[in-house]
Amino acid sequence: SMGAKNFKYVILGGGVSAGYAAREFAKQGLKPGELAVISKEAVAPYERPALSKAYLFPESPARLPGFHVCVGSGGERLLPDWYKEKGIELILNTEIVNADLPGKTLVSGSGESFKYQTLVIATGSTVIRLTDFGVKGADAKNIFYLREIDDADKLYEAIKAKKNGKAVIVGGGYIGLELGAVLKINNLDVKMVYPEPWCMPRLFTSGIAAFYEGYYQNKGVKIIKGTVATGFTADSNGEVKEVHLKDGTVLEADIVVVGVGGRPLTTLFKGQVEEEKGGIKTDAFFKTSVPDVYAVGDVATFPLKLYNEIRRVEHVDHARKSAEQAVKAIKASEEGKTVEEYDYLPYFYSRSFDLSWQFYGDNVGETVLFGDSNPATPKAKFGTYWIKDGKVVGAFLEGGTPEENQAIAKVARAQPPVASLDQLAAEGLSFACKI
Ligand code: FAD
Repeated sequence: SMGAKNFKYVILGGGVSAGYAAREFAKQGLKPGELAVISKEAVAPYERPALSKAYLFPESPARLPGFHVCVGSGGERLLPDWYKEKGIELILNTEIVNADLPGKTLVSGSGESFKYQTLVIATGSTVIRLTDFGVKGADAKNIFYLREIDDADKLYEAIKAKKNGKAVIVGGGYIGLELGAVLKINNLDVKMVYPEPWCMPRLFTSGIAAFYEGYYQNKGVKIIKGTVATGFTADSNGEVKEVHLKDGTVLEADIVVVGVGGRPLTTLFKGQVEEEKGGIKTDAFFKTSVPDVYAVGDVATFPLKLYNEIRRVEHVDHARKSAEQAVKAIKASEEGKTVEEYDYLPYFYSRSFDLSWQFYGDNVGETVLFGDSNPATPKAKFGTYWIKDGKVVGAFLEGGTPEENQAIAKVARAQPPVASLDQLAAEGLSFACKI
């Protein structure tokens, strides 16, 4: 077999965390040849959220190299040449199929070996597929999932091929809502199906969801709730033709997009590293239970200091920040120093149509809806506070300005006490703006 390639540092994965980790390594000082980034994708790390948004626009869609990291956070755009200049080996189209943590060796599908002194696991998540549950006909053509750029390219081609056709979106989470919008913008006839009583139930209250559902319906998106897809039929070309729902409804479809959740990619490390809550357990420096092995981004289950709880977070802001924290900790430990514990304020956002929301903090406790949440109002601005033990712990805002979004972030971090929920509702956004 081929001789192993040796690196001081290996980042396994080529997504958001990997890109931000590479930048941090370069910032902290790196000698040529010390760092390798190994990715099964064919392209350098990019800002994944673009795939469900501007990447699928009918007019001047976003394309690489436009959205390589770190443009999503206002940083420098790392083109493949950047890695070359820094002496970082960007090893693309390379899937690692075996990881031997005690032996500090990774092996690729084509049998190449990579040895490291320090490993950063940044493998992210994979989509949950309907075929995983044996849903009948779920392997038909034109049933799409969206995680990587290849998936987005296939979907884009199908959108072009099925001009003015019918699309069914299975799932009412982030992917479902963003794809429902972008397919509508592409002039497809869009129906969304999900089992829950309202969209994004893990974050949205019924009041928040009512706005988005109303808005989507006004745009012509049909929403079918309280039922699930139980099977698909295909035409003689094997292309999806119908979606069968549990309630007996049959929907015609030229394109189906499934967004029913993800699963952290930890399989390579099963039995070799401590896991918790479905992810790889880390400390506040993203160090795992195995010496010299770190885990960041979607795969990490880490101490969320603010809530004194360990959690996994599947959002881009945490992918960026955890990567930076891990690299800072790695570099500091080499000099016998330490860095401050990760002290993360959860931050999620989404954009669709001309809507844009942000959420900061924790969505637990009682809620207060404020502002104008009428979906018919142009440029509606509204929000929600979550109140636990008499303190505001979370805040959501649709249509906020950068300053207003900063204000709700500040509130979620400061957790100010509230005298009464009625007063909070009446004060609305101004409560956050005066903190
Ligand atoms: P990823 O970015 O997924 O990177 C993982 C990388 O590891 C990939 O390159 C993958 O190919 C590679 N890999 C995995 N296994 C192997 C292997 N065995 N060998 C080699 N390489 C491997 N979050 C938000 O907060 N806001 C949004 O609007 C938003 N939009 C999103 C839209 C889409 C379509 C998707 C899929 C996600 C979105 N997210 C959003 C979530 C966000 O993108 C993720 O939380 C973030 O990308 C996680 O970063 P990561 O580095 O952990 O994983």
